[in-house]
Amino acid sequence: MIQDIAPHFLNNHFEPGKEPSPDSPVVCFNGKDVLLRYDEKAAQNASLEPEERPVNFALAESHTPVGDLHFLPTYGEIPEDTNVRFLFTYDGVDVYRAKLSVLERAHNEPGIDYGDALVVVNKAMNRKVMEGFLFDSIRDIRQRVILEKNQVFLLMTALQLNNWYVDNKYCGRCGTVTVHSPRERALVCPECHRTIYPRILPAVIVAVTQYNKQEDKHKILLTKYSPKTGHAFPYYALVAGFTEIGETLEECVQREVMEETGLKVKNIRYYKSQPWGVVDDLLMGFYCEADSDELDDKGDPVIHLDENELRTGVWLTPNEMTLQPDAYSLTNEMMLLFKSENIHSPEELPLPLERKDIEALEREFYK
Ligand SMILES: [Zn+2]
Repeated sequence: MIQDIAPHFLNNHFEPGKEPSPDSPVVCFNGKDVLLRYDEKAAQNASLEPEERPVNFALAESHTPVGDLHFLPTYGEIPEDTNVRFLFTYDGVDVYRAKLSVLERAHNEPGIDYGDALVVVNKAMNRKVMEGFLFDSIRDIRQRVILEKNQVFLLMTALQLNNWYVDNKYCGRCGTVTVHSPRERALVCPECHRTIYPRILPAVIVAVTQYNKQEDKHKILLTKYSPKTGHAFPYYALVAGFTEIGETLEECVQREVMEETGLKVKNIRYYKSQPWGVVDDLLMGFYCEADSDELDDKGDPVIHLDENELRTGVWLTPNEMTLQPDAYSLTNEMMLLFKSENIHSPEELPLPLERKDIEALEREFYK
């Protein structure tokens, strides 16, 4: 999964009063786009057609040397007098975030689309921002295999922190401009003294399984998002959703499966969690079993799909199912364990698998 980056180590412990040196790496965001050093490898990967890109790009191996943050600009490279703030340490190196006023000005120029910054035709225009650097969205960085997994995880974590700083510029209670706490990672309202801490949103990922007696086969419920949700993700996924206020995680699992597929579930068992900074989530994965007497002519529990959320909901065997194109998500790991027949039903949890065993499965299934 994206957070499995050992031997690299990201430490999100906040230390007040840290000042950058000229060599300190700095993450510069513009919405969900991030400023990257533009080198030959990035150029080559960006110009590949999707089908030409390596399929095993997200395997657990990290090829970057420990401490190599060369893909980010340094404090010495960004314009003087830029306001920077300490984010976290990565392999012992202090990483900062910057808000570049020069970027804001450049972004406001009409007719320049920074969303596709690494598309080579945009290269010349992007060079106006900072020589040797280009903006790219986290989604494109992932899809175009421009960076390695540990680097993408660093950017996702930095993005979540950056969003929190940007979204809490003003106090939500009284509207005053907030200030940074000198003691901890918090924003403070100087008027009403409210303290604002980073918020993490709990959400569940649900793998619903069933044993089809008619076919003598175990099956898993896989879904695809409806285009109506604005989700462009075209691959199979599991039922997922945010926890409501006043709800337990187990109730959330039952409600989300019911809302999206009309199915009741039983034997809900926890598997693992995953931070997913792009949408401020903490994902919690559960396996459970369908609890339904309404079967179709193949012997599968009948799915009543919520077509506002989903365009597909199907029962598939390990042989029939396909995995996501990379091994970043908890969803994909849960699907991989079913496909590899390491788990057929929640009763087999906890699985006796270590990280090295799961990485071996990834290598096998992403050859
Ligand atoms: Zn206030």
